[in-house]
Amino acid sequence: MALMSLMRDARGRAFGTHPTSRTRARGSEGLHGRIDIDDAEIRFDLDTGPLVAVKRVSLTILSGEFVCFLGPSGCGKSTLLNAVAGFLRPTVGRLLLDGKPIERPGPDRGMVFQQHSLFPWKSVLRNVMFGPLMAGHSALEAESTARTLLDMVGLTAFAHAYPATLSGGMQQRVGIARALANYPTVLLMDEPFGALDAQTRSMMQESLLELWHEFKITVLFVTHDIDEAVFLSDRVLVMSAAPGEIIADLRVDLQRPRTPDLLVSSEFNQLKRSCMELIRRESLVAFEQQSRRLAGRA
Ligand code: ADP
Repeated sequence: MALMSLMRDARGRAFGTHPTSRTRARGSEGLHGRIDIDDAEIRFDLDTGPLVAVKRVSLTILSGEFVCFLGPSGCGKSTLLNAVAGFLRPTVGRLLLDGKPIERPGPDRGMVFQQHSLFPWKSVLRNVMFGPLMAGHSALEAESTARTLLDMVGLTAFAHAYPATLSGGMQQRVGIARALANYPTVLLMDEPFGALDAQTRSMMQESLLELWHEFKITVLFVTHDIDEAVFLSDRVLVMSAAPGEIIADLRVDLQRPRTPDLLVSSEFNQLKRSCMELIRRESLVAFEQQSRRLAGRA
């Protein structure tokens, strides 16, 4: 895939055509995109009583870091990500972006979901233009930015196609382009490649790392796939079974750029084994919790 050369061509235009993009892209080199989670607990009030989805999490994610949240299903990964996105507020504690409390969603955070959340009635180009238009840019600026982003994800030829005509991988590329179109300082990704086949997934992982390198953006990535977490991240944050808390913060010092041959290296497998032991233990706890719940209902 000639993504890097596309990006090199696109870079001048990308950071030149968007009024705030140059500062944002530069700023993220060390000043923007830091997240502080300060003793945050997130509870939901259910008919059956309060449900603690995330339990007392405290951590700092530095500007430009690539961090994966790994944990068994239902442990609160998406809930934590949604709180960083500003879709929900912690019941206790606080979350800060660059020192300011996160109170609502904002253009400084782009989000990519597992199932593409594109507007089916809009063309690919118009989907990517949506963010810049909402942020108040002119149609001309929004189109210029959208075309640059589509160039960067290798979808220029599909600008006028509709989402339903694209493959799952292509739809996710549009989703990523759309999330980046406001040049956010933080990219939040909730199992973005979970529905893709193994080959497409592997290509998407490499493309994402190229974009991350190019944009120098902070990435928070939720997955339950250990290989994916270790392959992508600077740090893997392992969460416990519900209620979720961070039980391990593993640094991944593998060389970059990461390429698929890394998957068979001994360093990779050593890290993978550490994650597997933790995840296996937590998944068993999650399984027992679920069995107890089901037995209680029977
Ligand atoms: P994960 O992403 O790790 O699979 P989630 O964050 O989606 O886990 O969910 C954690 C727990 O919080 C689950 O028990 C889930 O049912 C519950 N939960 C998530 N969102 C809501 C909500 N909006 N209302 C009530 N319960 C929720």
